[in-house]
Formats: sequence, structure tokens, C-alpha cells
Amino acid sequence: MLGALAMLAVTVVRPPNFVVIFADDLGYGDLSCYGNRDYRTPNLDRMAAEGVRFTNFYSASPGCSPSRAALLTGSYPVRVGVPQVLNPDSPTGLNPEESNLANTLKPLGYATACVGKWHLGVKNLMPTFQGFDTFYGLPYSNDMWPPNGASWPRLWLHKDREAVEEVKDLADQAELTGKYTRFATDFIRDHRDRPFLLYLAHSMPHVPIAASKRFAGKTGKGLYADTITELDWSVGEVLRTLKATGLDANTLVFFASDNGPWLPYGDHAGSSGGFREGKGTSFEGGFRVPGIFRWLGRIPKGQVRDEIVTTMDVLPTVSSLAGAKLSDVERDGVDVSDLLQGSSRRSVRPWFFYFWPGELQAVRSGDWKLHVPHKHRNQAQPAGQGGRSAGEVTASIELSLFDLAKDPGETTNLAGRNPEVVARLMRMIAIGRRELGDTLTGSKGSGVRPPGRVE
Ligand code: MG
Repeated sequence: MLGALAMLAVTVVRPPNFVVIFADDLGYGDLSCYGNRDYRTPNLDRMAAEGVRFTNFYSASPGCSPSRAALLTGSYPVRVGVPQVLNPDSPTGLNPEESNLANTLKPLGYATACVGKWHLGVKNLMPTFQGFDTFYGLPYSNDMWPPNGASWPRLWLHKDREAVEEVKDLADQAELTGKYTRFATDFIRDHRDRPFLLYLAHSMPHVPIAASKRFAGKTGKGLYADTITELDWSVGEVLRTLKATGLDANTLVFFASDNGPWLPYGDHAGSSGGFREGKGTSFEGGFRVPGIFRWLGRIPKGQVRDEIVTTMDVLPTVSSLAGAKLSDVERDGVDVSDLLQGSSRRSVRPWFFYFWPGELQAVRSGDWKLHVPHKHRNQAQPAGQGGRSAGEVTASIELSLFDLAKDPGETTNLAGRNPEVVARLMRMIAIGRRELGDTLTGSKGSGVRPPGRVE
């Protein structure tokens, strides 16, 4: 009897587990629950049906490193000093002094694992220096390797702080999703008796895309579809493991992508779902990504919500659900745990800034989106094939106001007809420049903090 009561007490006070799954360069239109009709993603579709799927969900950057900095710290990448994509020899990265998902949960007794792509700094800035107990994966993007140029160092899978296995060719790339998935599901099984954070950041479908033998050719729709199908299988393995370990009802699972599709790769790139442009731009195709949360019994099933929610909201939300205390430095995410649980609150954030990399290029408020004049990448025609990029040309956009509700493809500039809306959004841009800086205008932000330094 006493034993049973003690067990009950443990069950009641045990904080939830968190599984954060982050795909790389997966577009808004790449999942069947977001409208893809070329192939199916049954596990992600089920995850969405069992939880909440957001249709106005944003990554905080259209590039790999900054989007990860935002997810982990709950801040715009410019605020934490990681506005640009890092190279293997970059001297900076995520500052270990920033609060992040791992070092926030660890003091509460959480086991913390980073599996997959890190890309937030090398050496003393790697995951096990940032609050993660363990790391298994690549230190940066899977295309930063010798086949892409003699200047790249050889690419190694790391276990914690050691390089353990070289990724030499496409056959090795094809094993990454399976290897990450096995490590992740083992981690869940090994930590079934204590709270955990699993950050599973897939290398796929970033080029060079690859699918293992079991999935290559499976869809009949090409290698990109096969690669996504394997990622979907991986999500299914995670969900299956949570069920088998009895952790389903005590685990929040989150899925998103770091940025939109890398369109110049053509048949090796994903779909923006009809949004304009893709990765590396401030159009919706660069920033808008799938965002799915599932927690059986806590998040009402089958919700589709249209509030603006971002990857920056993950840290404040997770902290709130875990009962963790965040340091009181300024950050940009908001706690959306009430939205996940079915609240009817409508307005989550008054604006959302589109920075790329350090340029404040656009702002969204409600359904209005204002671009300030800036240069941007434009997909070259015809698109690349078979893993080759068609390259990018530079284009420019004038001051442009779009109504995203009526014109999600950002085609019709309404700035001339709506001067008062332009003025209101320009005031928000001015606030952003003052607080976060802007390399378009040479503004220094008063609220930016230094990056970590590689030693
Ligand atoms: Mg990416």
C-alpha cells in the first residue's frame, strides 16, 4: 500500500518528457497533412491528428545555424549573435552562457540528448558544452564535406566530443536517418525512468539527400520523396517507442523544420506549398514551416490553428510545462502552452520580424506583411537536377505590403493603397532596428548579446 502510494506520488510529480524533432530544409508543402499529394507521410499525419497543427508556424530564420539558435534559446538569432550560417572554420557559435533547452531542463534532473545536426559551433561550442549530456551526430551540415570542395574538412559523425565515424560518400549519407533514429529510440528506452529532453535534428532532407536501401525507390516519386518517407518512418519509430515504454501520456513531441526548401536543387528540393521563394529569403517560402505538437491527454486532438507561433516559443513553452525557471534576460519567444491545450486566445505576438542574415527585411503583424526594400535570392531557371544546384540570381524587392490572408504568395503590392498600414508596420521595423539591429541601415541593436567564441 505504501509502495503504491509512493509510486503514485512519483507519477504525479514527474515532469513531462520533451522530444523536439527538427528537419533540415523541409518545406511547408512536404507533408501530406500540409497538402502534399505526391506521396504520403502517415506518421506525421497521425501525429498532427493526435495533437495540434499550426498553419502560421515560423522558423525564426531561413538558414540552418540561426534557425537552430532561435529554437534552442527562444530568441531571434540576431539577439544571440548567430545571424548567419556557420562554416566548419567559423570562429563563433552559440554562447554557452545563453539559456537553452538543455541547460534549462538539466538542473531539474532531466537527461538531455542532442542527436543529428548541431551546426552551432565547433570544439568548445559543441552540444556537450551546452547542457547536453550526450551528442550523436554531425557538427554541421551534411554538405560541408570534401566532395563539395577541397577546402572542406572531412565529415565525421561524433559521439559526445569524439569523431567516431567518417561520412565519406552518399552510401554513408543514406544511413544517417537510420543511425540517428536508433540512437534516439535507445535513448528513450534507456531513460524511461527519468525525465528527458531528446533533441533530434535530422540532417535530411538537406542536400546531398539520400535514403537507405529500405526506402530508396519506395515511393516511385523520386529520391526526395523517398528521403521524406524515411524521415516519416523515423517519427513513427519515436512514437512507437514512446508507446512501448509507457511514456505516451507524459511526453510532448514537437516537429518542425529549420527553414524552407532549397529550391535551386530542383528535384532534390522540397515544396514551399505555394509560398513565394524558399530557403535564404524573407518570403514565406523561406520562413513558414510545418509546426506540430502532440501530447496525448494534454493537447486536445485534431486541432488546426492559425495563430502565429514560432520556434522561439518552444523554450518558454517547454520551461512553463516543466516548471523550469528561465533566466530573466530579454528573449523573444512566448509561452504558448495554453494555445496547445486549446485556449481560444487569439493574439500571441504583435509582430514577427524576418531577419536574413542581419538585415531586418520584413515584418508581419496580423495578416499584413511589409517588406522594406532589399536584395534577395531568386531561384534560377531551370532548376537543378540530380543533386546539382542551378545556382541563384540576385533580385530586389521595393517597399511592398502584402495581405497574407488573401495573397499568401506575396504577389500584389498594396503599399500604395494602405499608407496608414505601412506607417504602422514601419514603426515596428523601427523598434526592431533599435532593439535587434539591422545591417541594411547600419543600426546597432541595444538588446543583442555576444556569440560564443571557438577556442
Ligand atoms: Mg536548413
